[in-house]
Amino acid sequence: MSEESQAKKGEKLHEGKAKVLFATDRSDQVIQYFKDDATAFNGEKKGSIADKGVANNVISYKLMTILEAVGIPTHMVAKLDDRNQLVKKVEIIPLEVVVRNIVAGSMAKRLGIKEGTKLPRPVVEFYYKDDALDDPLVTLDHVDMFGWATEEDLDTIFDYTHRINDILIAFFANIGVTLVDYKLEYGKLVGGEENGIVLADEISPDSCRLWDMETGEKLDKDRFRRDMGGVAEAYQEVVRRMGLSG
Ligand code: UDP
Repeated sequence: MSEESQAKKGEKLHEGKAKVLFATDRSDQVIQYFKDDATAFNGEKKGSIADKGVANNVISYKLMTILEAVGIPTHMVAKLDDRNQLVKKVEIIPLEVVVRNIVAGSMAKRLGIKEGTKLPRPVVEFYYKDDALDDPLVTLDHVDMFGWATEEDLDTIFDYTHRINDILIAFFANIGVTLVDYKLEYGKLVGGEENGIVLADEISPDSCRLWDMETGEKLDKDRFRRDMGGVAEAYQEVVRRMGLSG
């Protein structure tokens, strides 16, 4: 029997804004369930996007599988069904790793640079994962000082992040999409024999800014954040362009 067909959904371990984690009968694996719930501005704006969970599950599964195939370790084990995926259990490093290829969102606002300005090279930023503090931007010295990641962890994170960026830019360009910016999360495997850093969480239109290459149309959560309409359709368009079915 395959690994995934043996996975049994156990107790709820954690409910986040867009996903729920469930235990399995293996101590080193959990099930990640994708909801349709959408939040923005640290939970201030709440809503629901039809079938977002189905789209993000299939999109994130596909992207993680591509990354895994080129040697980036990820938490992915298998896609179980429409909304559930089996993933390796990790302890999340409490940093949101944001990669920017084009200026948008908080960078545009904070630095007063026009949204859409191309950056000559990718910029990597770290935000400390703490909702109560509104995920503050932090420096590498903060990361070191407060022990959120070791120097060795950071070397690995930078290495993986730059490789991921090259692969994802090319992947999206191939389907007519500009990868503007996105957020990654890394974790350390628990319960297994390995003790490495893996890419965790999700990569989806919830966590990426994706613009149509020709028209600049937004195909991501900014449509929800900015009340632009056509939110569910934008997620479906990404699914369609990736050659997947939601
Ligand atoms: N992002 C995310 N989760 C967060 C914050 C940011 O997935 O809690 C993503 C966001 O979708 C965008 C990128 O990271 O693709 C950069 O976000 P930014 O700092 O511009 O913040 P925002 O404008 O989204 O508040």
